Amino acid sequence: MTAYVSQNAFWGLLISAVEVYKRECFGLLIGYRDRRGSEEMFIVEHALPFQSAGRRLRGVVSNPRAHRRIQRFLGNMPHLSVIGDFHSHTMWGYNRAASRPSETDVAGMHPDQVYLIVSINDRLREVPWSYNDDGSLSGTTDDHYFRLTAYTVNGAAEARRVPILCPYAIGFDARPLRAAL
Ligand SMILES: [Zn+2]
Repeated sequence: MTAYVSQNAFWGLLISAVEVYKRECFGLLIGYRDRRGSEEMFIVEHALPFQSAGRRLRGVVSNPRAHRRIQRFLGNMPHLSVIGDFHSHTMWGYNRAASRPSETDVAGMHPDQVYLIVSINDRLREVPWSYNDDGSLSGTTDDHYFRLTAYTVNGAAEARRVPILCPYAIGFDARPLRAAL
């Protein structure tokens, strides 16, 4: 199982997390599931921030009625559906943002959906975007350090990391991301 993150979704995740930084963002992952050979993939086409999410310093309260409206809306779109959701974890005082899901996060996960956690911190130094051994993806922009970690949950309600594939971010190679001039 792999989570493919498109360029579009990549920016959606980063911008959503930056917008409300020091608070947590929440949103839906829109895309589809695909099979490449024996490998099953979640193709994340869009990361759609939830404007009606109630934001607190720790944790986000989603709006189930708005969620259902979006599900119905997407029900009429061929090939696109909600395949999971995302939210950010932010720095808390001097504590770096966690990349693991909280117990509440795991309790809200459903099998056959994918969940992305965007950990966002103040940037201390420039770090090129790269994959980590645990399957996550991390790097810096001008002001922030990010780590994207994907999870699924099995029937026993245990969260498992899913490797992220984001050729777009890695295409920046050994250079940190900068705004295009
Ligand atoms: Zn969380």
